[in-house]
Amino acid sequence: MMKAKIMGSVLFPKLEARYNELNSTYTKQQNMKVKPDSSQNKNRNLTFVDENDLTISQMVEVEKESTSKDNLRQSAKQIASMKTFDNNDLDQQDEVASKLAKLSETSEIAINKFIEDPKLMKTLESCLFCQGNGMRDLPILKETDNFYITLPPKPEITSNGTLIVPKKHIKNSLYLDSNEYEELKDIMESLSIFYFKSHKQNVIFYEESLYETNHANIKCVPIPASFEPKTVGSYFREGIMEQVIDNEHHHQALIKTSDKGYRQSLAKEAPFFHVWLDVDGGLGHIVEDVVSWPKHDSFSRRIIGGFLDADQFKIMSRPKFSVEKRSVIQSFVEKLKDM
Ligand SMILES: [Zn+2]
Repeated sequence: MMKAKIMGSVLFPKLEARYNELNSTYTKQQNMKVKPDSSQNKNRNLTFVDENDLTISQMVEVEKESTSKDNLRQSAKQIASMKTFDNNDLDQQDEVASKLAKLSETSEIAINKFIEDPKLMKTLESCLFCQGNGMRDLPILKETDNFYITLPPKPEITSNGTLIVPKKHIKNSLYLDSNEYEELKDIMESLSIFYFKSHKQNVIFYEESLYETNHANIKCVPIPASFEPKTVGSYFREGIMEQVIDNEHHHQALIKTSDKGYRQSLAKEAPFFHVWLDVDGGLGHIVEDVVSWPKHDSFSRRIIGGFLDADQFKIMSRPKFSVEKRSVIQSFVEKLKDM
């Protein structure tokens, strides 16, 4: 806490409030636990009982209580020690997100409240994709009512890619309402036409929604026109099957989203990967084990880089947003003007 104060972090007032809130919840829980009165609490009041005298179910209770207490303490500590994010560090954001998601699974306290504030506090204030939140804004190449198009992180597997980002902070594109989704489809169609007309290229659109704190973004990767959607689809199909081969999978590994429509085929709450093979959908996959899913976009990078025989160094690099030259941005803005 002192560290944040000394550093003059802009997050500090919120951190302090959150820290106090968590601390008071913690204290309240402690007080509740030692109250020896009600018969309901009789078995729960185990704090001062000799461990050797506990039955198995009592031990489970103790274990549960101390885990929940530790989680609460940990969370308060974590929030208190948080500093502003490294602009380029998506990984750190991901880690904290996973941790909070894990907390929500294991703890028995009012977890929604518990995780919502850090999410809003931290994610919104440090989100790379939320414009105007005090972080360096990504350059806007084109803007529609509900979306903006920006440049992707570098290095790209192919050149001249773009990123479609909803202006509001939503976890994935399945949270769009139907008008917004139509708008997204229009953008995708326009971009496909743009790349074909100006670069004689096809494009792949894909989205990964793995973490609670995700800000939805759809990557648009230009590829040579000789690669048809069917061919691209077969590479992704193979890639997904390779991913799930060693893991027991409860969901169908491959979900064809074109038939029923993308929005009807996937659940927005589940972590997923989706690649569009036409504007209505393509292939989806529910990521059951987020921890073992390739990080830093490397799942798609390996597949696309693989069939394009791209440089291995490029494929394995961890992509980062860099400050783009004004001229590069301007030239893109000009090109997309009539899109
Ligand atoms: Zn955001």
